[in-house]
Amino acid sequence: MPFKDFSLFISDTKIGGPFAEALKSGKIFASKCDRCGRMFFPPRPECPDCLAEDVSYVEAPTRGELLSFTAVFVPPAHYAAPPAKMPFSKVAQTPCPVGVVAVAGDLRIMGWIPGMALKDIKVGSLFDVEAKTLKNGQLTIILSPV
Ligand SMILES: [Zn+2]
Repeated sequence: MPFKDFSLFISDTKIGGPFAEALKSGKIFASKCDRCGRMFFPPRPECPDCLAEDVSYVEAPTRGELLSFTAVFVPPAHYAAPPAKMPFSKVAQTPCPVGVVAVAGDLRIMGWIPGMALKDIKVGSLFDVEAKTLKNGQLTIILSPV
């Protein structure tokens, strides 16, 4: 599967293929250094801590605490956000929340938070992290409150 199917449009890398294939099957892979054990998301082909080139894929935990979030006012087209509530608004679409969840130690995963108003999102609350295939075939990561 070409890595272009991942909604973040990261170009092909030596870790891209297996990572994208895992996402397509609903799994989120992190890389784990075979020497020092540190995990990274998105996966990295080398360990920046100990410079080892031997890394393995591990399935990342899928539940964690929301560290931060923000709103994207011009979301990608595939996000299919609802249109602005006010006619003639200069804001084309309703802002889309995006957050970062700490799933294990310093392993952090960013994803969309669809269906939640910004005022209802609380830093520190628990979120599930899920790989999703969108209607257009692109892959993305969705955060859902527990
Ligand atoms: Zn290492």
